[in-house]
Amino acid sequence: MDAVRRTAPGRRARGGRRTAAGAGAAAVLVLAGACAADPPGTGAALRTLAATVGATPSPAGTAADGAIPDGTTLSPFDDGAPAVRNLDKPLLEALRRAAGDARERGVEMTVTSGWRSKAYQQRLLDRAVARYGSVEQARQFVNTPEKSAHVTGRAVDIGPTAADDWLIRNGARYGLCQVYANEMWHFELLTAPGGTCPAQLPDAAG
Ligand SMILES: [Zn+2]
Repeated sequence: MDAVRRTAPGRRARGGRRTAAGAGAAAVLVLAGACAADPPGTGAALRTLAATVGATPSPAGTAADGAIPDGTTLSPFDDGAPAVRNLDKPLLEALRRAAGDARERGVEMTVTSGWRSKAYQQRLLDRAVARYGSVEQARQFVNTPEKSAHVTGRAVDIGPTAADDWLIRNGARYGLCQVYANEMWHFELLTAPGGTCPAQLPDAAG
């Protein structure tokens, strides 16, 4: 995913990320964009971090793990990819209804991360711990396999920004809610269609 895209709008970078002690400006931007939704072990977030610290990125998971290759996205209607196919059925159905309606209004929705295997989630967390120096720091951005809603197929990350904006405004019609204030792309089925979404948590550690 595009860490810059995710951190450019003010609301996505709000909160404590910009003031994280000991982090440089570039690293802070990466941190803000590289949370449970798109951990720093994948995609552009990793490349950005690698460019910052001189590390060499390597794949953290395969398609069978639910990983989505760099530079690619999936359609919510793609049944061939485990990342989509293994989503919890009610979430997937709600997502597809929303994606269909969004498309009719000219907004194309893509899945940037969906279901993840436990092993993949653990590797993402391990990488984050190695990079940020502690489990506590890493947990602000990457959940444990036991806690990640991606592992149970009950969370999906959506892009691009226009689709995130659309889903934030309209998701509750389908029961889809933004969960974390620092992740405008991460949605879960948390209310009935037309219901009210619960208050957002500040981040994945909240
Ligand atoms: Zn997510």
